[in-house]
Amino acid sequence: MRVDIISIFPEYFAPLDVSLMGKARERGILDIRLHQLRDWTHDVHKTVDDTPYGGGPGMVMKPEVWGEAVDAVIASGRSAPDADSRALPRMVVPTPSGRPFTQEVALEYAKEPWLLFAPARYEGIDSRVVAEYGSRLRADEVSIGDYVLAGGEAAVLVIVEAVGRLLPGVLGNARSVADDSFAPGAMANLLEGPVYTKPPVWRGHEVPEVLLSGHHGRIARWRRDQALRRTLEKRPELIDRLGREDLDKHDRRV
Ligand code: SAM
Repeated sequence: MRVDIISIFPEYFAPLDVSLMGKARERGILDIRLHQLRDWTHDVHKTVDDTPYGGGPGMVMKPEVWGEAVDAVIASGRSAPDADSRALPRMVVPTPSGRPFTQEVALEYAKEPWLLFAPARYEGIDSRVVAEYGSRLRADEVSIGDYVLAGGEAAVLVIVEAVGRLLPGVLGNARSVADDSFAPGAMANLLEGPVYTKPPVWRGHEVPEVLLSGHHGRIARWRRDQALRRTLEKRPELIDRLGREDLDKHDRRV
């Protein structure tokens, strides 16, 4: 998957060299390209923002600079030797007012060959930029939660990591994705239950006996019960989304 990120802080993405994402890049599974937005400015101060129309505090990122940057990145991707010259990226613009980013959206993005991120600073990007690209390609405004960050870079890190770990070959054991909280199928709308490793007793806390039993059927049932209980306790609104068809007769007793 190719990932382009345009930002005034490309250095913010150093964590993408670490751990799973770093290995995915080394192995060519993730091709991440960072771009300095200011490279597309034309004044000595490399200005990317201006005062908001209508007044008010804060600054807004200028549409011209974003337009030039996004056009150039798209052109570079389409003219790459191995690229389809008609290919267009899926554009992702982080904003608190966007569509909530969920595991479902991560799975959707993991199927894309090319993502282009436009993280903003200040009060955000002039709204005509999303309108312009929304008419030319798929451009999504996405929120990573109901809070406000200082900039979109941290949101991009979150999204790239959630998507990157879903790409084939990134995780050692592909099954762990299927067992995760929110995974489609049996775990859709459920949180994963508690997990344990050795030793069997630590500071007086015991590992639940069933996990030491070696009985796969009982262990699977226990894990399912724990997932249901934990979700009911911490995120009851998720349980409300489960249909009768998602629950077996043992689930209904939990
Ligand atoms: N004035 C904006 C509002 O109230 O919606 C907040 C702007 S915020 C200070 C600056 C940038 O951080 C946003 O344009 C966006 O790129 C990013 N950002 C902040 N919170 C975010 C969130 N919850 N999800 C995704 N991006 C976020």
